[in-house]
Amino acid sequence: MSQSCIFCRIAAKDVPAGIVYEDADVVAFRDLSPQAPTHVLVIPKRHVASLSDMVEADAALLGSMMLAAKKVALAAGLTGGYRVVINSGPDAGQSVSHIHFHVLGGRPMSWPPG
Ligand code: 5GP
Ligand code: ZN
Repeated sequence: MSQSCIFCRIAAKDVPAGIVYEDADVVAFRDLSPQAPTHVLVIPKRHVASLSDMVEADAALLGSMMLAAKKVALAAGLTGGYRVVINSGPDAGQSVSHIHFHVLGGRPMSWPPG
C-alpha cells in the first residue's frame, strides 16, 4: 500500500470510488472520467505499477483480474460485447502507475484505437 498511489488509496477505502466488485485480491470501480456508458477499472489490491512489472508468480492474480472484468461486464448487462484495455507504459498512455484493466461497454467501438 502506497499512500502516494491513488489506486492503493481507493483499494484501502481511504478515497471514495464507485466500487462495483471486490474480492480478496481485486477491486473494480467506476472511472472518474468515463469514456463509455460503462467504464470500470479493475485493479489488484496489491500495488504493482504496470503489466511490465507482473511476474510468473502473478499469473493467478492476472487471471483473477480478467475474470473480475468478465463479472463486471456481466453485471453491467453488456450482452452485446465489451472491451478490456491495458495501457502499459507512457507510449500506451498509462497515466496512473498502478496496473488497471479498463472495462468499456455500452456503445459501439471502432478499431484500431488511437
Ligand atoms: P490510464 O490512462 O492510466 O490507462 O487510465 C487511468 C484511468 O484512471 C483514467 O481513465 C482516469 O480517468 C482514471 N482515474 C484517475 N484518477 C482517478 C480517481 O481518482 N478515481 C477514479 N475513479 N478514476 C481515476
Ligand atoms: Zn498503488
